[in-house]
Amino acid sequence: LTALGIGPGDEVICPSFTFFATAGSIARIGAVPVFCDSQFIDFNLDIDDLTRRVTPKTKAIIPVHLFGQAARMDRLMDFARDKGIFVIEDAAQAIGAQYQGRQVGGFGDLGVFSFYPTKNLGGFGDAGMVVAQDESLSEKLRLLRNHGENPKYHHLMVGGNFRMDPLQAGLLNVKLPHYQEYLQKRRNNAAYYSKELSNIAGIEAGTQWEGERPREPVENPDPLKLAALRPDMPTSNDERVPTHCILLPTEKPGCLHTWNQYTLRVIGNGKRDSLKAFLTERGIGAEIYYPVPLHRQKCFEHFCVDYRESLPVADELASQVMSIPIFPELTVSSKDQVIESIQDWVKSNHE
Ligand SMILES: *Cc1c(COP(=O)(O)O)cnc(C)c1O
Repeated sequence: LTALGIGPGDEVICPSFTFFATAGSIARIGAVPVFCDSQFIDFNLDIDDLTRRVTPKTKAIIPVHLFGQAARMDRLMDFARDKGIFVIEDAAQAIGAQYQGRQVGGFGDLGVFSFYPTKNLGGFGDAGMVVAQDESLSEKLRLLRNHGENPKYHHLMVGGNFRMDPLQAGLLNVKLPHYQEYLQKRRNNAAYYSKELSNIAGIEAGTQWEGERPREPVENPDPLKLAALRPDMPTSNDERVPTHCILLPTEKPGCLHTWNQYTLRVIGNGKRDSLKAFLTERGIGAEIYYPVPLHRQKCFEHFCVDYRESLPVADELASQVMSIPIFPELTVSSKDQVIESIQDWVKSNHE
């Protein structure tokens, strides 16, 4: 953001349903994070909603390739180029992900990656990477990385110490040649889960309900009523009562998903927390990414006055999502244990 000359008085649009750092980085340089809604189909930003939040102060958009699947970069880039707005891709969870045959991180003006230990290519501490399309921009990034210094003790810009620790770089260089192998294992795990879980009554692939976000605010957020109102939500023959309690994540056509997370949507009030407790009891590490959307964070309160009713999908996702273990080393018996446990929970919830 600093390399692009963004600072106080500027607005930067990013999804509300993402990890904190996406918006924290905006606020820390004195700019205003403007939150947009997400879509159910891939948990990524909703471009229709985004276009409504652009103002003359909008300087950049930060799409997030959440959980390892690309946002709709073709439409987003067309829109941003037309408006003269910068795009910084948050590819922290998506190294190696592709959109229409191209690697993410290479669509926007800048692409950022994380090598935090929980990411697909993890160090043993903190590390990250920024890629730039433009040579003068990458020059600026190199300066900022090291206190804006060039030559030694001559400072052209106010940067910081943003250098990668050499020990992290050493480890990452050893792991990098194996990355495709790690990625393939995650993809195999995801395919296994999707195949086995979709055989269970009550569990369906999420794609079947790809749909628009609701245009009207929903007055009574009763899950059964929502199911009737929203085409992306499961409905039974009578079109009111959801017969499916879990929706599976899917890989969109034209996308190569890196499956940093395999994230279920558990439908129904309190159901997600019930399933998580059930799995935790059995020693399965289910996690919620993310339980509180950013427009509801205390530290953004002063930015968020008009968001209360307008990010319904972000709110709903935060109440439904739960990720199950997908790391490359996961054994078949561990996967089967996860699947059986979910099946047991579904059964006990539908009898
Ligand atoms: C992990 C993550 C970050 C932050 O990366 P760090 O290397 O921990 O600073 C940013 N955005 C998303 C979506 C992430 O998952």
